[in-house]
This record gives sequence, C-alpha cells and structure tokens, in this order.
Amino acid sequence: MLNGKTAVVTGAAKGIGKAVALAFAKEGCNIVLNYHSTLPDGVVSGIEACGVRCLPVKGDVADFEFAAGLVKDVKKEFGTLDVLVNNAGITRDMLLMRMSEEQFDQVINTNLKGTFNMVRHASSLMLKQRSGAIINMASVSGVTGNVGQANYAASKAGVIGLTKSAARELAQRGVTCNAIAPGFIETDMTDVLGEDIKQGMLASIPLKRYGSVEDVASAAVFLAKNTYITGQVLNVDGGMVM
Ligand code: NAP
Repeated sequence: MLNGKTAVVTGAAKGIGKAVALAFAKEGCNIVLNYHSTLPDGVVSGIEACGVRCLPVKGDVADFEFAAGLVKDVKKEFGTLDVLVNNAGITRDMLLMRMSEEQFDQVINTNLKGTFNMVRHASSLMLKQRSGAIINMASVSGVTGNVGQANYAASKAGVIGLTKSAARELAQRGVTCNAIAPGFIETDMTDVLGEDIKQGMLASIPLKRYGSVEDVASAAVFLAKNTYITGQVLNVDGGMVM
C-alpha cells in the first residue's frame, strides 16, 4: 500500500529519523531525506539498497522558505508527496529559572515552527492530491511536562495542538495528521543524559526497557498506512504515560 509512494522525513541523518526513513524504504517508498548539518556515509546507500530512490536535501526546517522549496522539489522530482514525517528536533535542557531566551527560542523555532513550516507547505500539495499522511514527532514531555524541559515540553505540546488543528482542517480531503509521542528512546539525544536521570527514567517505564528507534519507526509506518486514524497522539513509551 505504500509501495511506489514518496515519503519525506526531516532530520533523518541519524537516530529516529534515520530509522523512520529506512522503515518507509522497506515498504517501497522513495525517500526524500532532509538533513541539517552532516549526512554520514552509508545512510543514503542503506536506503537505496531497499530498491527505492533516495533524494538527500540539506537544510533547516525552521526556515519557512527552505520548507517551501523542499516541497516544490518533491513535486518536481516525484510528482506526489504521500507521507511527511516531521522528525527534526532538538533539546536545550535547563531549569526554567536559568533558561536563556536563546535556549527557549531555538527549541521553539526548530521543533514547533519547523513542524508548522513543513505542514504548511506540504498540506497544500496533499489537499490538491486529496491524499496524504502527516506524522509529527511530539514527546511524552509535551503531554506531561518535564523538569528542565519547559522549552521542549512547550514545543511538543504545541506540536500536538498543531497536529489536531491540521487534522481537522485536512480531513475534508482525506489527508490525515497524527502525532507520535515517544518516551525514552536510545539515541544521541538521550545519550547525553546523566546515569542518574537514565536510571530514574527506566524505573518509570512499565515495560522495563528503553525504546529503540525501530519501535518508533514501526508506529510511523502504521499511522501512514491507516487512513481512518487522524488527530491522534500515539504514545510509544513502554507504558510511561497511560
Ligand atoms: P537526534 O538523534 O538528536 O536526531 C535529531 C535530528 O534532527 C538530527 O539529525 C538533527 O540534525 C536534526 N535536526 C536538528 N535541527 C534541525 C533543523 N533545524 N532542521 C533539520 N533537521 C534538524 O534525536 P532523536 O532522538 O532521533 O529525536 C528525533 C525526534 O524524536 C525529535 O523530534 C525528538 O524531539 C523526538 N523525541 C525523541 C525522544 C528520545 O527519547 N530520543 C523522545 C521523545 C521525542 P543535526 O544533528 O545535523 O542538527
């Protein structure tokens, strides 16, 4: 059902985004792989080994014009944009009373405005197509809040509100929009956390293990395949939030 379709994944050079891109490639999707700073060797060839095309596009999702250009390029190269996974995200953790304006703005610009930029441009194409699936990477922090993550939790709660609003606006043309709220997934983003924080997290996970990038990627594929789920937040968190 996804075979021959086009999937755009942002921030896909590593971590969850890379696994999501690979999972869609295994389903037969051509991949438009957005990356920000560096693209390690083997990422594009790993996708192409699935027998699909992979177009790497360097750029910052927080840039409105970049997002517009990316969607234009997808239309030109592939004709349709069938799946958009807004995965690009950053943390700048700090207790609220010590958080700088820059730390707040950086996180909101990348996580929330970046998602808006991509949804804004991709949705006009999807509305014309009368089909498409948008999946936005939120976080359990955006659902529950988290100490040291006022900026990040606000950005992810914003992503959830954006997702539900987009779902309502796009449903009339058969376009779905959902969010995934990962819990603690083993990537570079969580690798920087101290051992005490990691152990505290593990204790709060009913399934008693950290999540893998494949756990999140399979949820994204599920949401892209299903055409009757929209406006939902799917927690992929080992039961942390229920
Ligand atoms: P990661 O390993 O740090 O990867 C994040 C990716 O986003 C990197 O490739 C990064 O590229 C890219 N990126 C950052 N700023 C960007 C920008 N302005 N434009 C385009 N790409 C940009 O993180 P991850 O753990 O895979 O996280 C992926 C997503 O899942 C994020 O939205 C994150 O908030 C969310 N999430 C993760 C967890 C977790 O436990 N890991 C939990 C909940 C939610 P550069 O390195 O080149 O800047």
